[in-house]
Amino acid sequence: MAVPVTMTEILRTIPSEEQLGFGTIFTNHMFVMDYETGKGWHSARIVPYEEFEASPSNMTLHYGQAIFEGIKAFRTEDNRIVVFRVNDYLNRFNRSADHLCIPRINVEEVKAGLFQLLETEKDWVPHKRGTSLYIRPFIIATDPYVGVKVSDTYRLFIILSPVGAYYAAGFNPVSIKVEDKYVRATPGGLGEAKTPANYAMSLRAQVEAKKEGFTQVLWLDAIHRKYIEEVGTMNILFKINGEVITPALNGSILSGITRRTVLEVLRDWGINAVERQISIEEVYEAHAKGTLEEVFGSGTAAVISPVGELSWKGHKITINNNQTGKLAQRLFDYITGLQQGGESDKFGWVETVTKG
Ligand SMILES: *Cc1c(COP(=O)(O)O)cnc(C)c1O
Repeated sequence: MAVPVTMTEILRTIPSEEQLGFGTIFTNHMFVMDYETGKGWHSARIVPYEEFEASPSNMTLHYGQAIFEGIKAFRTEDNRIVVFRVNDYLNRFNRSADHLCIPRINVEEVKAGLFQLLETEKDWVPHKRGTSLYIRPFIIATDPYVGVKVSDTYRLFIILSPVGAYYAAGFNPVSIKVEDKYVRATPGGLGEAKTPANYAMSLRAQVEAKKEGFTQVLWLDAIHRKYIEEVGTMNILFKINGEVITPALNGSILSGITRRTVLEVLRDWGINAVERQISIEEVYEAHAKGTLEEVFGSGTAAVISPVGELSWKGHKITINNNQTGKLAQRLFDYITGLQQGGESDKFGWVETVTKG
């Protein structure tokens, strides 16, 4: 069941693949759908990517009732357009919706709309290894009302952005500040939802860390300021004494699809991968004993991001000589190989949308 399409009259040209960065260029069309209490989700359609009008009293602008996702489509070596674990992302979208009192979507319906949009925009999926078409679904509340309540109307958008290879110049391990002043999320809060509020929470710490020369912050739990949570755009993994440890999901950590992918791949390789509480002291003690072998982040944008330095309360440690670890490199090569078709899809994570 295809949705109606309004083609744009102003076709933008597709940028050269060398120029691609992240998140600034968007394709010609987007998928849109509306919600109204009593009517449900309706009027799915593909329309030109363009500005839209909102009331100055739009509730999202005032109270932040909104959610989003971040998914990728790839062009494979044999020229198919594929998506990676798309159902997992769309199911997480619904779990985020529950946290924000936003009505759930029908995953199959939105997925069909996404596939139709990708078919329309397939020429925008770049070719080079490491490049992709970033998919950003999001839902905003649209009631014009400046009182605090749950909105009765919503709009879902899916916009697409071609992105360059994250590591065009090769891996570059990042330097991370372990945040001991600010917190990102609290027990019982919104930490496991993909919602703008969590990013609003993180900006000040991020600005201060940048000023101090760090790339990112690593968040600790809000109560004890002791247990490791995540990086805020990525989950975090530690290789200690041959075993990979990542903080267990506790409600304030975002349940990353890449995190899950990494854990499943590691277990498939016969490497012990455990999810449990892990404190920053434990990481520093492992470093002191010489058993902290690797640290790396996982997320859709970068896939794997090696960490070269951690700094906690002014005490800096260097991991693996500030070099990319063997396991981080192997995971990156294998997962990107799965995504762009070089590796056979033994896990059933890759779905073909259309011929390229
Ligand atoms: C999206 C996100 C991640 C990474 O999740 P993936 O599904 O792997 O992309 C990690 N932390 C936060 C806060 C996020 O929003």
